Amino acid sequence: MSNRPSEFQLIAELFAPLAEAPGALKLTDDAALIAPPAGHELVITTDALVEGVHFLADDPPLLIAKKALRVNLSDLAAKGAEAAGYLLALSLPAGIDMSWLKQFAEGLKQDQREFGISLYGGDTTSTPGPLTIAITAFGFVPKGKMIRRANAKPDDLVFVSGTIGDGGAGLALSREQHDVSHAVRDFLVHRYREPRPRLALGLALRGIANAALDVSDGLLADLGHIAETSGVRIEIDAHRLPLSAALQAVWGTTNEARVRAATSGDDYEIAFTVAPRFTADAVKAARNSTAITEIGRVRAGQGVALLDDQGREIPVPAKGFTHF
Ligand code: ADP
Ligand code: MG
Repeated sequence: MSNRPSEFQLIAELFAPLAEAPGALKLTDDAALIAPPAGHELVITTDALVEGVHFLADDPPLLIAKKALRVNLSDLAAKGAEAAGYLLALSLPAGIDMSWLKQFAEGLKQDQREFGISLYGGDTTSTPGPLTIAITAFGFVPKGKMIRRANAKPDDLVFVSGTIGDGGAGLALSREQHDVSHAVRDFLVHRYREPRPRLALGLALRGIANAALDVSDGLLADLGHIAETSGVRIEIDAHRLPLSAALQAVWGTTNEARVRAATSGDDYEIAFTVAPRFTADAVKAARNSTAITEIGRVRAGQGVALLDDQGREIPVPAKGFTHF
């Protein structure tokens, strides 16, 4: 194998330096130790990225590493968890060499600094199949304080952080040629490649939001999960959806554009519901983290509806992305 270190070299050279937490035991043991702070619960989540499905073979390894980590941190953010660390399972095809792996580890290192987390362990194997990166991330919440999907209540207001549709537009732009300015293209492609887990907002929403999730497969599809697990109906006003200037430059602001933004996925924003009496607290919570926008309301009933500015339901053929 060309320039491919042994599994042990790889761990010692690239990954052990990232195992900064004491409980990670510098990756010298079979397993790691995690001690949740007194009165807290462990919040744990996993997401795998597969070459050809979630990223392309020639994407920069530094960005692949960051995306793999960030999609996991985004789940923790939506639960109101304080991120602490992660495990990394790598399945490497023959083409992956030391230079690729060094850049990959550099991406992890940068994001560990940025989000204050440590590597705790993992597994490394070769594969005849596509490159696969499976990350399990964990964090802590005070006991009973995880923000669930299942607790939305009729009369809650629905909010979303940031802007939606950018990731989907960035993906489309990175696959096809479009006649758009460099600035617009760069902004949207960057939003697709380097999602920003809304950890500070998630923390601030503890005890304020009734229900929350991170938006990964399309806003309407994901709100559908809240509606279903909570046993409620969710109505979203299309004209209130927050669209970035760059997205508006590419897709416009028609209802068709808004349907596309609300179904395209890869947003990694937080969608949440709040009882009316807590909306001022939610707005205050967002002031020091990420902008939020009120986009709709929870009702008795079931399902998710997108409404136009006359309150009429806009037909939505597919509410989001599915993997199968
Ligand atoms: P075992 O054979 O007992 O599973 P390994 O040789 O796979 O042990 O792993 C040795 C140590 O290196 C363990 O602490 C494990 O968590 C760590 N490790 C292995 N692969 C990775 C990786 N890709 N990222 C982080 N840590 C890893
Ligand atoms: Mg192993």
